[in-house]
Amino acid sequence: MVATKPNLDEALKCIRCGLCQAVCPVFGAVGSEPSVARGKVQLIRALDEGNLSPSDALKKFVFLCLNCGACTANCPSGVNIGELIVTARAHLMAELGQPYVEKFLLRGLAASAGRLEVGAKGLALYQKTGLRWLARKVGLLDVAPGRLREKDDLLPASSFRTAKATFHRVSGPGDARQMVAYYVGCATNLFDHRVGRAVIDVLTRRECQVIIPGHLECCGMPHRNVGDLETAAVLQRKNVEALNRAEADAIVVDCATCGSTLKGYKGLNAPVYDISEYVVNVLGFGDDARSLSGTVTYHDPCHLVRGQGIGAAPRELLKSIEGLIFREMSEADRCCGGGGSFALTHYDISMRILDRKMGNIAETGAEIVASGCPSCRLQLKQGVLMELRKDSRAVTKRRVVHPVELLAEAR
Ligand code: SF4
Ligand code: SF4
Repeated sequence: MVATKPNLDEALKCIRCGLCQAVCPVFGAVGSEPSVARGKVQLIRALDEGNLSPSDALKKFVFLCLNCGACTANCPSGVNIGELIVTARAHLMAELGQPYVEKFLLRGLAASAGRLEVGAKGLALYQKTGLRWLARKVGLLDVAPGRLREKDDLLPASSFRTAKATFHRVSGPGDARQMVAYYVGCATNLFDHRVGRAVIDVLTRRECQVIIPGHLECCGMPHRNVGDLETAAVLQRKNVEALNRAEADAIVVDCATCGSTLKGYKGLNAPVYDISEYVVNVLGFGDDARSLSGTVTYHDPCHLVRGQGIGAAPRELLKSIEGLIFREMSEADRCCGGGGSFALTHYDISMRILDRKMGNIAETGAEIVASGCPSCRLQLKQGVLMELRKDSRAVTKRRVVHPVELLAEAR
């Protein structure tokens, strides 16, 4: 395993101004120095200089981060905090080893699309055959340690069939204006088929031929995020080969995290676009009628707004739908606290961050919340559930969707 230490020069760029405090969602919820970038950079620097040894205590602080990129985007010294944190995690993994459960989930299941599908079917079995109902009924989840009852709510609804098994390998006209390779990410494939159908519908309505390449794997971000750079590199190589085989004009992604990862791949033969970026900036809206009623607000996924610099396109997409009223929320680009597995590993902190987001959403009065990231949508759905539990009569049951679903629905 590679045990490269984090870049000391990068850590030394920190002037300890503390400006990162104002934008850090974890610091906003916890308020302690190791929770903010400045504190983490100093810890990583001490590790680099040999003044601190790798330990579980140090690891705890290095992992107390959503990797939302807000600190990096606002740092006056230009410290690349995200990169420092990932390399520190890789170093700690090499020194301390990877926890067994994490290894099973990421190297065992998520490193292979086939095994991940088997895992999702297992989850569907638990959710749909009465096992979950029974576990809740007899209070098994309530007595289990680690807030299992609450975390159970966070699990995505799984199904026995994958989206890829239900979609055609090739859709759209043979004389298409663009041949598009659609990278169907794990979340869309296993849990969110409606998003995949919407992407194909929107693209084919705009005269694109949509190809779903075979042998696609996880983008590798979950592995990279915990410091497993080796597995992330293997997945990157497999995906580049699979996507290049499609010989498409463009690669389109519906997930902010997958998109930011694919845009960092080397060796792809076609440009990568987020679906909103592709529709708004490349295809254009065309003259098909688009009408839908309702009020919508938009949450910026970190990996879209900071990871790819995309904020205007999804808003333009939503505003293009006749009859749909768009209301901007405060702090739309502040992280919702989902952060991939952060909500599972740091449940209480994640929920405090979510509370602030749900307050901002409630102020808009919108009954629809749109966001282009499956992890954000899961977190926001949890927020809606919590709103309803607080007061089922006073609160509108908000719908949480991908912007492209609304475009597909609009006729
Ligand atoms: S904003 Fe940048 S330079 Fe200032 S304390 Fe945070 S990491 Fe250091
Ligand atoms: S990446 Fe986000 S959560 Fe992590 S330290 Fe920076 S601002 Fe805080």
